[in-house]
Amino acid sequence: MLANFSKNFFLRVSRNILLNKAAKKWGLRFGASQVVAGVTIESVIKKTQELNEKGLVCTLDHLGEFVSNKEEAIEATDYNVRTLEAIEAAGVNSHLSVKLTQLGLDIDRDFCIQNMKRILETAKQTNNFVRIDMEDYTHCQITLDILKELRDTYDNVGTVIQAYLFRANQDVLDLEGVRLRLVKGAYHESPEVAYQNKKDVDNNYLKLIKNHLLSGSHTAIATHDHEIIEKVKQFVQENNIPKDQFEFQMLYGFRKDMQVSLAQEGYMMRVYIPFGDDWFAYFMRRMAERPQNVLFGIKGLFSK
Ligand code: FAD
Repeated sequence: MLANFSKNFFLRVSRNILLNKAAKKWGLRFGASQVVAGVTIESVIKKTQELNEKGLVCTLDHLGEFVSNKEEAIEATDYNVRTLEAIEAAGVNSHLSVKLTQLGLDIDRDFCIQNMKRILETAKQTNNFVRIDMEDYTHCQITLDILKELRDTYDNVGTVIQAYLFRANQDVLDLEGVRLRLVKGAYHESPEVAYQNKKDVDNNYLKLIKNHLLSGSHTAIATHDHEIIEKVKQFVQENNIPKDQFEFQMLYGFRKDMQVSLAQEGYMMRVYIPFGDDWFAYFMRRMAERPQNVLFGIKGLFSK
């Protein structure tokens, strides 16, 4: 019960507009620096270099979501373009992850698509790949519609499917051939649209992973769950799935030893690295997921 209370509390706080705005001025606080790599492009490129040296590849996420005016969305687009240019200039091995609400999805769909196209054009020129993160359920259908539209012109773009949603299985079937990151799902969704029980989510998650792998599509298995990872390792071996058809992904700061050991076993291991001053909502979602995160958050209250 306490775990549920804490989860709901942090998910609600993550959406608080005033706190999100204030946190931009605070700098990284409450232990957030353990899961957010820094606030500047320079700092995140340095971290990427360090992780590359350990055999890990990365994807960079310039934090920010639910942008409500065009200036901010254009600023975020420019920042993402500069991040791709910095990846190219430094010669580091990293993709880019973006959220459509940061690029103006809640303001104007076409404006958001134009912003996304600018990012994809730079990615194409720098031979890179961009993944559209999946946000809450209210943005799911429109995100998939936009992805399909973008894929008419660009093949260097993919997205994320959340296993807690009832619709996920059909979405994975519809997206055969698209590079998908499969996750359990991070938002608070209603029982009308999403499994509420961890066991149901885990079962559906494994089913999606197996279906996408068997269809021959590139699959990113993004989880810190060692049991799921073990089952995937066994499944790919039994089904002769080549190692370049899938990768594991974990968030920056989580299960660092396991990240390195998976890479040492010869698996592609990608670290999702969030950075930037808009860290609050991301950090609160991580607190919601795991009581241990709350502990380091509380410790962080007393240190910068
Ligand atoms: P959980 O169900 O949280 O954990 C399962 C078990 O694993 C735990 O019981 C514990 O035994 C073990 N475990 C988990 N974490 C740890 C740890 N730190 N240390 C030790 N043991 C641990 N969600 C979205 O909705 N949209 C996205 O676009 C999105 N992108 C993501 C990208 C990446 C790279 C990752 C890793 C996650 C992303 N998520 C996204 C979040 C995801 O949906 C889950 O909320 C989050 O990953 C927690 O679920 P889990 O699969 O890691 O396992």
